[in-house]
Amino acid sequence: MCVTNQLQIPSWKQDLISGYQEFRSGAYKTQRGEYARLGTDGQNPEIMMVACADSRVNPSAIFHAHPGELFTLRNVANIVPPFENEKGLHGASAAIEYAVLSLKVKAIVVMGHESCGGIQCYLEGEQELADTDFIGEWIQLLSDAHGRLTEAERAPAVAQTNLEYAGILQSLENLMTFPFVAKAVQAGELSLLGAYFSIIQGKLLFADENGIFQEISSEKIGL
Ligand SMILES: [Zn+2]
Repeated sequence: MCVTNQLQIPSWKQDLISGYQEFRSGAYKTQRGEYARLGTDGQNPEIMMVACADSRVNPSAIFHAHPGELFTLRNVANIVPPFENEKGLHGASAAIEYAVLSLKVKAIVVMGHESCGGIQCYLEGEQELADTDFIGEWIQLLSDAHGRLTEAERAPAVAQTNLEYAGILQSLENLMTFPFVAKAVQAGELSLLGAYFSIIQGKLLFADENGIFQEISSEKIGL
């Protein structure tokens, strides 16, 4: 009977169970105390991460973050929409509001990435997306970012990477349209940072003050 039940478990569900069991016998063993404390005392993360929903770009893995360290918002193409006055179901804006006003994070990092499907959809203008309920309209938020690019930067060979970068910079600008974000930044209580992850090479870049993405050393210093 038991064997029959096991055979009926779909592979994706078995993967979840196996992963959980691996977690319990691995990382959780050393983090048990952290989980217990965080569960009792609440979270107090210093960093909010806005990242793409893409399965290949996991902020906790890239930054080797422990539980409680990254308050993370993930959506298609790591987009921060501009502030809107109209009442509505603004999921991204609600997360940002909570991070800044309640958690009082010290930094918001917008992390884009290489080979982003959302960026690719925008550039290719895939017709089938025009008829979707949500994603077609969502990626139209990239039109401001696209407007930042010069004609040369829109050339097919380089457009994907350039729009990935521009999308991050546009999201940082959009963050500043939220009055509580602008106020915290101007008070020196909040910093904004653009980041980019190259999936193929496993490399991380940060945007400098001029919006140019610079590679971060992967070597530990002082060892
Ligand atoms: Zn993506």
